[in-house]
Amino acid sequence: MRTPPPTSGSALPRRRSCLFVTMPAAQRIREKRCDRCAENAETLYRVRYDASGEWRFVCTRCQAEVARDNPQYTYGGTWKSRKRR
Ligand SMILES: [Zn+2]
Repeated sequence: MRTPPPTSGSALPRRRSCLFVTMPAAQRIREKRCDRCAENAETLYRVRYDASGEWRFVCTRCQAEVARDNPQYTYGGTWKSRKRR
């Protein structure tokens, strides 16, 4: 026997747990976010810029900022959302 769930008006539980929605493979969006300012960008630079030595992807703006007067800055390549063939 099943008891119906309690209906308390229109108060549906609002949960924001699904920040990372799994996309169907068909509509893959080739876009990445900048690791620094979290903006979506079509072009990202793979760089290291701090003592951790971790590779990060940053947008054009952030790349210019982190590269300035930074002895720890290392350039490791460019990522583009649109690949030319
Ligand atoms: Zn950025």
